[in-house]
Parts: sequence; structure tokens; C-alpha cells
Amino acid sequence: MEKEILTLKEWIDGSDNIVFFGGAGVSTESGIPDFRSTDGLYNLKYKYSPETIVSHSFLYRRTDEFFEFYKEKMVAPALAAKPNACHKKLAELEKQGKLKAIITQNIDGLHQAAGSKEVLELHGTVMKNYCDDCGKRYDVNAVLDADGIPRCTCGGMIRPDVVLYEEGLDMNVMSKAINYIANADVLIVGGTSLVVYPAAGLLQYYRGDKLVLINMSETSQDGNADLIIRGKIGEVLSQI
Ligand code: NAD
Ligand code: ZN
Repeated sequence: MEKEILTLKEWIDGSDNIVFFGGAGVSTESGIPDFRSTDGLYNLKYKYSPETIVSHSFLYRRTDEFFEFYKEKMVAPALAAKPNACHKKLAELEKQGKLKAIITQNIDGLHQAAGSKEVLELHGTVMKNYCDDCGKRYDVNAVLDADGIPRCTCGGMIRPDVVLYEEGLDMNVMSKAINYIANADVLIVGGTSLVVYPAAGLLQYYRGDKLVLINMSETSQDGNADLIIRGKIGEVLSQI
């Protein structure tokens, strides 16, 4: 076992207050592309970047195109995917009473599919939707089965319960996340480029001395980490 993985194992063994903070890289091993890797969504040939399409203004100005992309590139892959070794290990650590919470930027529902209970979804989830007019809640099928723009019984548009670019985060979820991070003993951060704010700014609330970064590429926070592991997060965590 590599030295870094041994250290991570020691820290995990010695703690019952671990918090995990993750992003799209957590789900690439489940076959869901991230945004910024070479085979990520940014590098596919689209007329618009994912950031443009998955935005508030695009939803309201180009609604048809939004739902076309959203269904094909975000909802369908999430439903087809299965939890990988990373999701499963985190669920296991929670069951053992070692991991307190998962804070994720992902919207694919895979942590819940793996059995995790305390999952804070900073950017919402493709599994939930609501009517823009009356607020009625709808499950994922309401969007998936709709021909074109999904409509509520009241006639309003059904929209994803996802935080789009240009939209604000849920302050209740944010303050819970801050609380978990501020009180964490070990903070494991993985599969995130740490460029999307305000989510990436959450790291500044950590006060401990066991900040672990598990990522395939460099991140802006590498200088602040106490332990850096370069590799695929599912492969790394399955060695623990
Ligand atoms: P990102 O695409 O900006 O960065 C992903 C990072 O993970 C990269 O640094 C990459 O090197 C790394 N990575 C990829 N596969 C990995 C693996 N197997 N192991 C370790 N590292 C790996 O992702 P982000 O920082 O989460 O920001 C993207 C935004 O887009 C988020 O806000 C998220 O809401 C959204 N998004 C979500 C999903 C999803 O729900 N699965 C997918 C794509 C994008
Ligand atoms: Zn309605």
C-alpha cells in the first residue's frame, strides 16, 4: 500500500467525525462524465457550454433546448448509473458511525442509492422537481416522460430542483454544511476541481489538521491540504 493511502487509513481508523466533500469526479467511475476532465462535458462538441445551458437564463429563454440537454445529458445518465466503490465506502463509513455527513455538488442521487443517509446536496438533485407556478412537487419521471417541456396540472412549467448557474444556494443546506465542516476532525475532499463557488469556499471553514484531497488533477486548494492523493477516488477508497 502506498504511504499516502496508509496515512489516510490511519486517519479514518482513528476518527468518528469524518466529513466528505465531493464533486463530479466522484461519479465518473459510475460512467457519468464530469465537466472539466478531457472527456468531460466541456470538451464535447456542443453549440453551448454546459455552464451556459445549465443556467437560469437558458431555462427561461430557451426552454425546449434546456430540457432536451437536461434530460439526455443529466437525468438519463444519472438514472442509468450505479454507485461505485467511492459511494459504497462512504455509505459503509456512515453505518459504522465514523462519517457524519456527505456534502456533494453532484445532482445524480448516487450517494442515496448507495445507502448514505446524511447527504447535503448543495446543488439539488435531478430526482426532484417542482412546479414553477404552484410549487407542486414531482418526481424524476415527470420530466423524463414529458414530451418537450414538462407541465404541471395547473399548466405551469415543472422545473428541476437543481441549483442552476446564476441561481443562489439553499442557505439552510449551506449552513448545515458549514457546521459539519467546521466541526469535522477529518475532512476528505474528492473529485472536485474546486472552481465552482460558493461551494468550493466551504473548505475555508475547516479548522482541523487532517484535510485530505483525493483528485486526479491539481486543485487550487492543494497548498492547504495535509494529505494529497492523486488517483481515482473509487480505486483509492476501495483500498481502505
Ligand atoms: P468538475 O468537472 O469541475 O471537476 C471534476 C474533478 O474531478 C476534476 O478535477 C477531475 O480531475 C476530477 N476527477 C474526475 N474523475 C475522478 C475520479 N474518478 N477520481 C478522482 N478525481 C476525479 O466537477 P465539480 O468540481 O463537481 O464542478 C462541476 C459542477 O457541475 C458541480 O457544481 C456539479 O453540480 C455539476 N456536475 C454534476 C455532475 C453529477 O451530478 N454527477 C456531473 C457533472 C457536473
Ligand atoms: Zn402547478
